[in-house]
Amino acid sequence: MSLDAGDRHAVPEVVMPTPPIHKVLSGQKALVTGANSGIGRGVAIALGRAGADVVVNYVAGDEAADAVVAEIRTGGGKAYAHKADVANETEVQAMFRKMVEELGTIDILVNNAGLQRDAPFDEMTLEQWNTVIGINLTGQFLCAREAVREFKRRGVVPSVSCAAGKIICMSSVHEIIPWAGHVNYAASKGGIMMMMKSIAQEVAPYRIRVNSISPGAIRTPINTKAWSTPEAYQRLMTLVPYNRIGEPEDIGRAAVWLASDNADYVTGTSLYVDGGMTLYPGFATGG
Ligand code: NAD
Repeated sequence: MSLDAGDRHAVPEVVMPTPPIHKVLSGQKALVTGANSGIGRGVAIALGRAGADVVVNYVAGDEAADAVVAEIRTGGGKAYAHKADVANETEVQAMFRKMVEELGTIDILVNNAGLQRDAPFDEMTLEQWNTVIGINLTGQFLCAREAVREFKRRGVVPSVSCAAGKIICMSSVHEIIPWAGHVNYAASKGGIMMMMKSIAQEVAPYRIRVNSISPGAIRTPINTKAWSTPEAYQRLMTLVPYNRIGEPEDIGRAAVWLASDNADYVTGTSLYVDGGMTLYPGFATGG
């Protein structure tokens, strides 16, 4: 039986059940930036469920950060919250020093913190440009550099992981899909793609793996306007062949796999978790 377009759109939204817990990250220490909201929160909880101890970085919102820490601890993992601006070199270095003091080392960095400051291009201020590049791109550079320093210092510990360390950069489908009205954001994500690949090439001989996750539309506060009314949701679905919005848990599962030894030999790649958003959905009916 074939599905025509009408049937496809009638497929009910199916919510992925919570997967069984496999402690594939047992004994590993993870830092997730921007982890008190949205995707970062989902990733931090997923890494904790997979057995990692987790540092929950955030820049504002103490209570939300404490709630993520509490949820990870409920599952039996160690966790603490650390307030730091990823765009501030001194604060980033202090955050890594504290992590080494508290947890001994770092095995997994999830470079997730990010934001948007949207404007038509000819109205975009230098401050809007610099804020987005500073947090989304320079922030990832600062954290990745500290992580690589510690990975190289410590090397591979075979009882923990085949790799000396893993970095996951939270990119976006907008590393390859241009985005009018969001030039600063798309530039930051395109920059992340080439930064990720270049770091991956440089540090692979040290058994350090560096990859990106490139989400499509995920239900978080960053894009509330795109999904919070039925009309907006329907419009969004014209861009998503899989016909449902993504959830932070979808990204959490991908992050656990990429960080685990199941993904050993995967480096320098972007994993698109986007329900097909990068598949040129406009051509689904033949173009
Ligand atoms: P969100 O607004 O829910 O979360 C962003 C997080 O980043 C928050 O915890 C915030 O406190 C933190 N943050 C912002 N500035 C910071 C700073 N200077 N230092 C430390 N933390 C800071 O948004 P989200 O959707 O969860 O976004 C997370 C990441 O995923 C971002 O990099 C975003 O670009 C990316 N992304 C999101 C989507 C989506 O559809 N939601 C799609 C593609 C990519």
